[in-house]
Amino acid sequence: MEGVISAEDRGHVQKQAEKAFEAPLVIPARAYGTTGPTARLRPMEIKRREPRPQDVQIEILYCGICHSDLHQAWNEWKNTVYPCVPGHEIIGRVVKAGRDVKKFKEGDIAGVGCLVDSDRTCPSCRAGLEQFCDNTPTFTYNGEDRVSGGITFGGYSQTIVVDESFVLRISRNLDYAAAAPLLCAGITTYSPMRRWKVGQGQKVGVVGLGGLGHMAVKFANAFGAHVALFTTSPNKTQDAMRLGAHEVIISKDPDEMHKHLNSFDFILDTVSAEHNLDAYLELLKRDGTMTLVGAPPTPSPVTGFSLIERRRQLTGSLIGGLPETQEMLDFCAERGIVCDIEMITMQQVNEAYERMLKSDVKYRFVIDLQLSAWS
Ligand SMILES: [Zn+2]
Ligand SMILES: [Zn+2]
Repeated sequence: MEGVISAEDRGHVQKQAEKAFEAPLVIPARAYGTTGPTARLRPMEIKRREPRPQDVQIEILYCGICHSDLHQAWNEWKNTVYPCVPGHEIIGRVVKAGRDVKKFKEGDIAGVGCLVDSDRTCPSCRAGLEQFCDNTPTFTYNGEDRVSGGITFGGYSQTIVVDESFVLRISRNLDYAAAAPLLCAGITTYSPMRRWKVGQGQKVGVVGLGGLGHMAVKFANAFGAHVALFTTSPNKTQDAMRLGAHEVIISKDPDEMHKHLNSFDFILDTVSAEHNLDAYLELLKRDGTMTLVGAPPTPSPVTGFSLIERRRQLTGSLIGGLPETQEMLDFCAERGIVCDIEMITMQQVNEAYERMLKSDVKYRFVIDLQLSAWS
């Protein structure tokens, strides 16, 4: 869930033309994007800036497909500026490093997630929580470009130029393609579990087994918790257990839910469709926490009693800052954690979107940009 800019910000973008920007867009790059909410993604040419001294230019090898890509391409959050080139789970090879770049040299493997810039001075940025920048972080696509003006373009492209402060190091121990979705799906689930200290001796629930849920199960297991997956489909049981769940709870069965009343330390809710939050809050023990990382399109009512009784907490979380994203990638490299992916080429992206709508993917599509044709 990212890429949100308000109507007010959009007006600001239109005024950008009057300002002078630091680095114009000069490097042509092939990309796939949309020109309107009902248009299919198609090949197009975009431009990137010439790397500044602090920038790296990355030849993109793999880019994961996140649900946000689809929401933005189709203007479902009502803030998309066209043309729109989605993609914020990017892994590639550094082909150029500016003279002041310290972390990377040519040939290194690097990652770019949901953010490419922020004001870097507000209290959130100073705390390494750039995703909550008080002056709106620059999202990797459909974001207001602080350096070149206009709107940022994402990873469905051959190349990208990013300030090294917003570029992540990728260990050679990781399968690069399967690591790409760690940059959004991974950090989105890792961050709240770290924040609320998921660990050994705890009973942890994950609601939903999609792109986010399957990573949440892997992380909760790696942190040593007893992991329960909540799902409406019994046929996901075997997969959930393989991914690291210790038990599966069929959420539409009230008797089964009732057996778990007041027993969970932490529940991560990854579902963005409308559902009953009270049914899960009641399963938390005293001082237990439920965190939302999916945002249902309509308000979800919560009964005060489900929180008041046992002093339960309902919270939310959004991706993670740069330091924590690096920590997560290093943790994954050490523990051999990656996403379960299905590889496609750029030409298959429209079909992939259709399949995602039907949850017909285990569990993330990743585009192989080297195998893709661009016309
Ligand atoms: Zn995402
Ligand atoms: Zn900031």
